[in-house]
Amino acid sequence: MKHPCFSKSHESGRIHLPVAKECNLGCNFCNRKYDCLNESRPGVTSRLLTPKEALLRFAFYREILGNISVAGIAGPGEPLANQKETRATFTLIKQVYPDVNLCLSTNGINLLESVKWLSSVGVGFVTVTINGISEDIVEKVYSFVVKDGKVYKGGEMAKVIIKSQMDGLKALLTYGFNVKVNIVLIPGINDFHICEMLEELKKLGVSYVNIIPLIPVKGTVFWERGVRKPPLKRQLLKVRERAKEIGLKIMTHCKSCRADAVGVPGKEHEFKGRFIAVTSSD
Ligand code: SF4
Ligand code: SF4
Repeated sequence: MKHPCFSKSHESGRIHLPVAKECNLGCNFCNRKYDCLNESRPGVTSRLLTPKEALLRFAFYREILGNISVAGIAGPGEPLANQKETRATFTLIKQVYPDVNLCLSTNGINLLESVKWLSSVGVGFVTVTINGISEDIVEKVYSFVVKDGKVYKGGEMAKVIIKSQMDGLKALLTYGFNVKVNIVLIPGINDFHICEMLEELKKLGVSYVNIIPLIPVKGTVFWERGVRKPPLKRQLLKVRERAKEIGLKIMTHCKSCRADAVGVPGKEHEFKGRFIAVTSSD
């Protein structure tokens, strides 16, 4: 399996293609307004690309690095809230590079209705970020969700998020995708809930999870509410240990990459997100 995030192989790299601008979810830890080359975290990119530019970018880095085996879309917004761009990008890449693994990171809100086309364009790897499975927790993690053109908040929002994510996850498992569930460990918000989540995920058939620490960022709802600290390292280790006890495989080498990251995670062919301009033929 040539995917640096689904195995510990340091032989192959991935490229994130930032074609997805919009988002349909209000995560209280997210701020996509920053556009700093030195900032390394999800949601950050130097610029957005069109699908054709994404193909050129992929071709460029594949040529100079040689070891890029995965083309992923992970933002800076939500790929499945930008389905036209996401689908066009995957289709173009697969047409030119049939051997490349396609990978998607999603919040799961539009997942159930997308699983068929994701499979048909050749996406094999999907990461779903799920930060809670009970309504009281989910209400604290998010501010709103947009589903089928309607905005939900509060209790209704929580119901929509949980149902969408769970239905989408089950569909992924049924279709046989390589699935990873990301969970953001948020002190004081979902830390005491994560073990319950892990057990439920295991029951559903999930085998691989990535528990990542909250990266506190100014300008977010959490920051305004005083949630400004990442979890302690020992807290993170404890939850990861629990996941192992439950029988889940855990990812420990995640680098919380940018939406335009390039190379082997942690082996900084990363270019620190530096963007090498490609011109669009649009
Ligand atoms: Fe930000 Fe991703 Fe959450 Fe959207 S789904 S608000 S882009 S973290
Ligand atoms: Fe891999 Fe983590 Fe980076 Fe995603 S954020 S590409 S899972 S290392």
